Amino acid sequence: MSDVVVEVTGLKKSFGPLEVLKGIDLSVNRGDVVCIIGPSGSGKSTLLRCVNLLEEPTGGKIVVHGTELTDPDVDIDAARTKIGMVFQSFNLFSHLSVLNNLTVAQRKVLKRDAKQAQEVALRNLERVGLSDKVNAMPNQLSGGQQQRVAIARALSMDPDVMLFDEPTSALDPELVGDVLGVMRQLADEGMTMLVVTHEMQFAREVADRVLFMDGGYVVEEGPAEQVIGAPQHERTQSFLARVL
Ligand code: ADP
Ligand code: MG
Repeated sequence: MSDVVVEVTGLKKSFGPLEVLKGIDLSVNRGDVVCIIGPSGSGKSTLLRCVNLLEEPTGGKIVVHGTELTDPDVDIDAARTKIGMVFQSFNLFSHLSVLNNLTVAQRKVLKRDAKQAQEVALRNLERVGLSDKVNAMPNQLSGGQQQRVAIARALSMDPDVMLFDEPTSALDPELVGDVLGVMRQLADEGMTMLVVTHEMQFAREVADRVLFMDGGYVVEEGPAEQVIGAPQHERTQSFLARVL
């Protein structure tokens, strides 16, 4: 298996007459952390949703871990189990305990038995520092804790790559650090990650590569110290001037 985990080529996505992605090329190697920054409406979420096939691309090609997701004959559900996704709005199952949030897809999709699913769940709860919340209900947790449970739930499926769509944007400022800390730890462990974020400090410190998107294009791409520290394009410069 090659070292390329995600390969996006010429990706286009339109909603009716609105062309949102206009030809995106993106490649993420095993163990890489790639951060995507850019203004609201530039197509960042649509890009992630296409990589997870929550949206059907209008054109182009997406290959994840050797499987072409854009092949009409692909088994989408099987392919999707290898892609973890964490959203801005945690999306936990509110009627299920933390433990059951982490075991339900393992049992239904991966066909793990109860004991095995529970072991994996407990291991991943420990990874995000929430072993003591195993029997809690989501509404008993802070936003930051819920987001860490959502990360543990995604990890419990043993994904090849984790996609994060502004995972800290909905959190109170004092809770952001814990979630970023968990993401930093995953990066250190070698997880392959594609992260849409407005946390420029995180991007600077953790990303192997930063992509700046605007108007459905990747305008600028490179190491963080280059794209955030010394942006070349006027649009990147004016975006950073607004957020930094
Ligand atoms: P970002 O995440 O960078 O803020 P999005 O990918 O969410 O941007 O949105 C890019 C553009 O696509 C916006 O103009 C948005 O209104 C539009 N868009 C996103 N999803 C849909 C949809 N399901 N139907 C119609 N338009 C959409
Ligand atoms: Mg978005």
